[in-house]
Amino acid sequence: RSALKVLDKLHEAGHSAYLVGGGVRDALVGLKPKDFDVATDASPETIRALFRNSMIIGRRFRLVHVRYGREIIEVATFRAAHNKGEGGEIGAAGRIVRDNVFGTIEEDAYRRDFSVNALYYNIADDSIVDYVGGLADLDKGVFQLIGEPKTRCEEDPVRVLRAVRLAAKLKFSIAPSTLEAMQATSSELGSTPPPRLFEEVLKLFQGGYALRSFHSVREHDLLVYLFPMLDARLKRGDEKLESMIDAALINTDKRVSQGKPITPYYLLAFMMWPDVEERAKAECLNGATINDALHAAADTVLATQLRIISIPKRFSVPMKEIWQMQPRLERLKGGRALKL
Ligand code: ATP
Ligand code: MG
Repeated sequence: RSALKVLDKLHEAGHSAYLVGGGVRDALVGLKPKDFDVATDASPETIRALFRNSMIIGRRFRLVHVRYGREIIEVATFRAAHNKGEGGEIGAAGRIVRDNVFGTIEEDAYRRDFSVNALYYNIADDSIVDYVGGLADLDKGVFQLIGEPKTRCEEDPVRVLRAVRLAAKLKFSIAPSTLEAMQATSSELGSTPPPRLFEEVLKLFQGGYALRSFHSVREHDLLVYLFPMLDARLKRGDEKLESMIDAALINTDKRVSQGKPITPYYLLAFMMWPDVEERAKAECLNGATINDALHAAADTVLATQLRIISIPKRFSVPMKEIWQMQPRLERLKGGRALKL
């Protein structure tokens, strides 16, 4: 309803207005969209002036957030290729660092990642606009990068993770040429800024398809770019650990499907626990108390992990608390664990 309000208002003010991206894709395959993105020919300033409840955000990618209660509709101005005109910038290794060249709806379609993500619902006549064969791919159940796959992966290696996550969510396959490009560029994920990887990890594990996403990430050998310590353990073979992680992922998906609240620190604590435990045990052998050992181990493991994925303090502090509680949960006699 909020998305429709935004579309209507833009349309009535004489602008073109479309729903685009995951919202359209998910609705067309019968899934409930997680969020709605709007694309328009109005500039960020024009959009901002049109909606009282709005603000301009972003630097690399400027757009407007329109707020209705707790819901936020993202409204973006059509963009052209980053190498056309000013406002775009390519950094080292062919990465896009600034992406603010405005353009036509067709140009906007070609700079999106996958064909099924570039479908536009037009509020003016209730039609779906498709420049890149997205409808056909949606029919076939295929994720396919728009344009030359290798270039598209290199300019933003996070697309590799997006492909794996979204294909797992929709139970789609990945087109062979896209898959080939992904394999050739996946190692570039290692130089992704940690805050961006953190955002991607949240999407992987909080979208309601954590179990499928995790297994898909492992099948494509991408876990090493997110949680290398856990990846090494799983590669050595550890059935107990596998079932523990699966249990946490299943639990998370279940809570999402029941509409219960979830938090990132729960799963993150799981992913790093085996290494915290092992280090703490070693410290104990050196004579440290279990509390001190856990503190020291937590700091070391977090420091290693934070070089890859940034974890805000509001999450890392409760993660440490969870780890500190583990020894108390192991003492099952006398009901103390239950009480805790
Ligand atoms: P979901 O919201 O279910 O995670 P989504 O496809 O909607 O999936 P968003 O991150 O909400 O993902 O992005 C909305 C749209 O913006 C995408 O569908 C795609 O068209 C475009 N987009 C997002 N990220 C990229 C990217 N890295 N490169 C190119 N286009 C992108
Ligand atoms: Mg979305």
